[in-house]
Amino acid sequence: MTTKAKSVTSGKVTSAKVAALYDAHVLKNYGPAPCALVRGEGSYVWDAEGRCYLDFLSGIAVNTLGHAHPRWVAAVGGQAAALAHVSNLFHNEPQGRLAARLCERAGPGCVFFCNSGAEANEFLIKLARLWGRERSGGRGGECFEVITATNAFHGRTFGGMSATPQKKVQEGFAPLLPGFVHAAFNDAGDFAAKVSGRTAAVLVETIQGEGGIHEATTEFLRDLRKLCDEKGLLLMIDEVQCGIGRTGTFFAYERAGITPDAIGMAKGLGGGFPVGAAWVRSGYDELFTPGSHGTTFGGTPLACAAAHAVIDVMEDENLLDRVQVQSGPWIESLRALGERHPDSVAGVRGRGYHVALVMKGDPLPWVTRFREHGLLTVRGGTDAIRLMPPLTVAANELETSVDIIDLALGTGGA
Ligand SMILES: *Cc1c(COP(=O)(O)O)cnc(C)c1O
Repeated sequence: MTTKAKSVTSGKVTSAKVAALYDAHVLKNYGPAPCALVRGEGSYVWDAEGRCYLDFLSGIAVNTLGHAHPRWVAAVGGQAAALAHVSNLFHNEPQGRLAARLCERAGPGCVFFCNSGAEANEFLIKLARLWGRERSGGRGGECFEVITATNAFHGRTFGGMSATPQKKVQEGFAPLLPGFVHAAFNDAGDFAAKVSGRTAAVLVETIQGEGGIHEATTEFLRDLRKLCDEKGLLLMIDEVQCGIGRTGTFFAYERAGITPDAIGMAKGLGGGFPVGAAWVRSGYDELFTPGSHGTTFGGTPLACAAAHAVIDVMEDENLLDRVQVQSGPWIESLRALGERHPDSVAGVRGRGYHVALVMKGDPLPWVTRFREHGLLTVRGGTDAIRLMPPLTVAANELETSVDIIDLALGTGGA
């Protein structure tokens, strides 16, 4: 085994050699990749052949500060040298302080730390189960349903997958976790119609990311808040992709003026270090008691140092304001560009740096073409290309992205 690995990695790293390693030893649960990336700086990454790309994929909305931000590098390096991991059998200061900072943004409550978006949502599903049991006077199994939205994405664990009403996610893994009911996104009336005595909670994304950047309307979010208040349900918001500043507010739901009962977050929180978290509103946090949930890795000093660096830079460099100010003209240029290429572009969706170029026809060939012109993006849903630059992106880099897309669209159909 090792001989084979050695033979293909000897000498200089090339995309072909790395592809051979993947071919031989890495599970084929992902499609083939175009190249191996070896280095990043700011909004740019380089592949093994030295080609440079403007990175508007950001590791799927993860690299909030771009690549190798000096303050993030220093924070992670410094914490790694001091104390990386201790388990949750001991307190560590970075975790306590990060929880306080997240509560400052979300409201009075408590935070549970984990390592991914799916785990954050698993926590929310467990919260819903505990709340349902509480509502039925301590009897389990009577009130346990969670209503989620059509076209949603909540992760790949059994809970996340069962919450995600998409054949391509669920196929092959039956039986799924029971207790999920689905209602039409942006249709509060349909959610109300799906409520029964078994319902414990509602779980929705503020902006459906994997689904192709579809925003919950403020009216929908407010109506859901009202519905949950009236029926005694938890309003749980999945901010794993749209949260942590991507839309110009720390949480995307803030523009609706609501307070959820629980929030799942992950992707952008660690700026490239795996950090997941779930916030629970005061009053519901006590449903969890010692021993009721846990994780070995969640909230390590190292993970929390990475998240502190993200929030530090966000605050010190006014990144939320910058997203709000710079995204307007950028989105306008994207719209104008769409009008110049009406045969290939159907429009633009989204806000801030959580934006989709909606294509006419299959977007995948265009993702390839954009990459060939030096811009990394990712498909969203069946009709769109997601553009998710780092929050630190410079105005001229946003302009460059428009120029690249313009050029790519102009040099021939997919
Ligand atoms: C990515 C994503 C998840 C899953 O997060 P992982 O870290 O991949 O487990 C859950 N919900 C939403 C909205 C996401 O975008």
